[in-house]
Amino acid sequence: MPFNNVTSSDIFKCMQCGECCKGYGGTYVSDADIRAIADYINKSPEVVRAGYCQLSGKKLLIRQKEDGFCIFFDKLCTIHPVKPRMCRAWPYIKSVVADVNNWHIMSSMCPGIQTHFPDDVIVRCVSEEIDKLDNKRK
Ligand code: SF4
Ligand code: SF4
Repeated sequence: MPFNNVTSSDIFKCMQCGECCKGYGGTYVSDADIRAIADYINKSPEVVRAGYCQLSGKKLLIRQKEDGFCIFFDKLCTIHPVKPRMCRAWPYIKSVVADVNNWHIMSSMCPGIQTHFPDDVIVRCVSEEIDKLDNKRK
């Protein structure tokens, strides 16, 4: 395959293993994320903040269950259409553009990340996905 035809869906294919919904420092949520989740599960933003989130310093994280999984994980993400920006972004994140070695490090915990493409192709695809996400809901 010519590398200039490689797209983001070639360098990453989610295996739905759930590994990224467990531990790893948690998932930060913005006010926009909370409003979207609240609408989706038919609760108020206050109920989502109090019942489904926890504080980490001054920032809100999605609460984790005792088994370490996100409170919204049940074999799959139960809020997939409105999952937080941080979840929607994965694995197309700025730290990969800053240092492509992070892509290779991330691949050790995410089996969907493909590492057999040239680094410049990976950075191009990741940058394109970041731009797309930046143009959607913040
Ligand atoms: S760890 Fe990677 S492959 Fe597994 S569910 Fe998360 S994004 Fe998909
Ligand atoms: S919101 Fe969904 S995708 Fe994000 S960590 Fe929780 S279960 Fe996983």
